[in-house]
Amino acid sequence: MSFLEEFNSRDRSDLRQVAECRDADAIRRLLASEKIPEGPETFALLISPAAAGFIEEIAARAADLTARRHGKVIRFYAPLYVSNECTNTCTYCGFTMENKIERKTLGGSEMRAEAEHLSRRGFRHVLIVAGEQQKIVTPEYVASMVRETKGLFSSTSIELAPFRTQDYELLVRDGVDGLTVYQETYDREVYAKVHLRGKKRDFDWRLACAERGAEAKMRRISIGVLLGLAPDWKADVLACATHLEYLMKRWWRVQYSVSVPRLCSSETDYQPAVEVSDREVVQLIFAWRLAFPDAGINLSTREPAYLRDGLIGLGVTHMSAESATEPGGYCSPEAALKQFDITDERKLDEIAAIVKAKGCEPVYKDWEPCLIG
Ligand code: SF4
Repeated sequence: MSFLEEFNSRDRSDLRQVAECRDADAIRRLLASEKIPEGPETFALLISPAAAGFIEEIAARAADLTARRHGKVIRFYAPLYVSNECTNTCTYCGFTMENKIERKTLGGSEMRAEAEHLSRRGFRHVLIVAGEQQKIVTPEYVASMVRETKGLFSSTSIELAPFRTQDYELLVRDGVDGLTVYQETYDREVYAKVHLRGKKRDFDWRLACAERGAEAKMRRISIGVLLGLAPDWKADVLACATHLEYLMKRWWRVQYSVSVPRLCSSETDYQPAVEVSDREVVQLIFAWRLAFPDAGINLSTREPAYLRDGLIGLGVTHMSAESATEPGGYCSPEAALKQFDITDERKLDEIAAIVKAKGCEPVYKDWEPCLIG
């Protein structure tokens, strides 16, 4: 059974009910167990109001599990935007087709210059990002951009329009080892309301994307929802938890991570359907850690410095830094081309020093492509 079939047939209302639990004893019992059961049921309990009253005990468990399963480290990466062309209308995004911003797609020498800049800054893991213009940002174009970065990075991930399995196979052959694809929201109605035009309207094609990546032997896959897009963010993250559970069972060789992005200001006047507070984000991160201890957790520069610093060693495993969200933005920043404004603008060295001060190690390289078996 594919995840799409499971998603369509599974009633998640029981999980949603658990996420409203107010029984403190249920949390005491959970925390008393030596080995906390993994999976969506535990996750639901840990995002409940009852769990909010035990945040310090939960943080201690999260710190312990993070150290044991992932080490006391923060792995750094940088996004590398190659194009802001897009043929979709997503009401919440600065790259949306209707937005009359300047459009740009990097050529080979521009890509090399951006990659060399990031390499000089110390990054060894990049995430190639683009809008969804499938006639311009084709798999072949992306493969050629990856070739431009040859020798500079040990890990290259992509966050692009969902491709076919054979396209991912091509990219894996050319050195891509990671795939990031957020469903944005698992609520079909909200999804249809915020994705008005273009291929991205196809909810099912996007939902099956992570499986196509796994089939093509991507080494790591990251999924998530855009918090604040759907009014019921808990229902969204619960659906994401069932997705992660499915992927971990079905494609168990892949390393998974989750992200918890909140909607940022962009070049549209979109207002989040709900504000997810810092406290809720922290509780959510701890819930991911305790319920899915093997999954990585990404925290991007969308989030403020105080929150990122406070979560070092407590669940988060991957952080972006110094991010430019426009194509060519590292060598020649152009505000007119940006997807959204980042919140944490500190330099990599500054964040790395804080990571060390908190007793963790900054990691720039955690993979060597020649080790591919
Ligand atoms: S979210 Fe992605 S697909 Fe939608 S407008 Fe922005 S770049 Fe395009």
